[in-house]
Amino acid sequence: MKRIKLKKKHGITWHISIIVTVELAVSVALATIVSYLLEKYLGTIWNVSPVWLVIGVAVILGGGISIFVNRALLAPIRDLGKAMKKVAGGDYNVQVEQTSRFGDIEDIYQSFNLMTKELASTEILKTDFISNVSHEIKTPITAVEGYAMLLQGEDGLSEEHTEYVDKILVNTKRLSELVNNTLLLSKIDNQSIETKQETFSLDEQIRQSILLLELKWAEKEVDMDVEMQSIKYVGNKGLMMHVWNNLIGNAVKFTPHGSTVKIRLKETLEEIIFTVDDEGKGIDENAQKHIFDKFYQGDTSHKQEGNGLGLALAKRIVIMAGGSISGRNLPLGCRFTVTLPKV
Ligand code: ADP
Repeated sequence: MKRIKLKKKHGITWHISIIVTVELAVSVALATIVSYLLEKYLGTIWNVSPVWLVIGVAVILGGGISIFVNRALLAPIRDLGKAMKKVAGGDYNVQVEQTSRFGDIEDIYQSFNLMTKELASTEILKTDFISNVSHEIKTPITAVEGYAMLLQGEDGLSEEHTEYVDKILVNTKRLSELVNNTLLLSKIDNQSIETKQETFSLDEQIRQSILLLELKWAEKEVDMDVEMQSIKYVGNKGLMMHVWNNLIGNAVKFTPHGSTVKIRLKETLEEIIFTVDDEGKGIDENAQKHIFDKFYQGDTSHKQEGNGLGLALAKRIVIMAGGSISGRNLPLGCRFTVTLPKV
């Protein structure tokens, strides 16, 4: 937003000093006139000290002035506060378009607009950089992974070499997961993701996700307690799969050996509700504020098994679908809830 200023406006201090001086002068003048008129027409019946009159008039005038100050000074500050909240939430495309009779406020507006413009362009540079680097890394990782897989199938590899190849594969898998998630995140952040909508069975998709993770929960002897209503959903099938894989994957990862992971899916008149409960340690208070941040890993004992992008990605996908996601502790373990609007 560009505004050409022809004349520099006066600041808040100037306005307030003028207002106070004028208010005092007007109060004294009005009080004198009223006192004179009352004495002239009512004579001795009216016997109020002029000081009280000045105070009375000043209070009435002050009331009017505070309404004016509220509208002219506090309302723009409140608007600015709302815009700042949006910036704090990561929306850098906010611009305040408001003129003010106070020069100071206009200066603040202009600086705010300049700041959000700068932040937005830095964000674009950053996401472009991340997406370019991720693309460049993806090709060599795929090549290393492919060759390692070829080697894995070779006869005559010593036990030691087989172990090396397995380690290469595990690590390339982690790296390519990181690169894929980073790319997906930057695509969602840039809003350059394809929002392909299709109708599919949500319970079927969640069942597929549970099956996909079977190796992990079977290895930990976790009991998967699943109760789901049959629900048809219209949305981006590929993206939604990331949400279930992450939430169920985390529940299995953080729940102890031999425990139960409870999965529920139901619909109400307006929404679809998915919950996954585990019996792990839960999330400590400090971590709760950050679990949906990029690259945040609260529980470092599982650092090897993730990259801290899963929940950030899940949150963006759910929000894109018009829903909400939250996590809270239970007496034992924690519950993640996804709510999706019915379309
Ligand atoms: P990752 O699991 O790859 O570390 P996520 O973004 O999926 O990354 O999760 C971020 C952090 O949130 C985890 O490192 C962990 O501290 C916390 N968290 C997520 N799910 C659970 C859970 N079911 N129980 C306890 N902590 C969890």
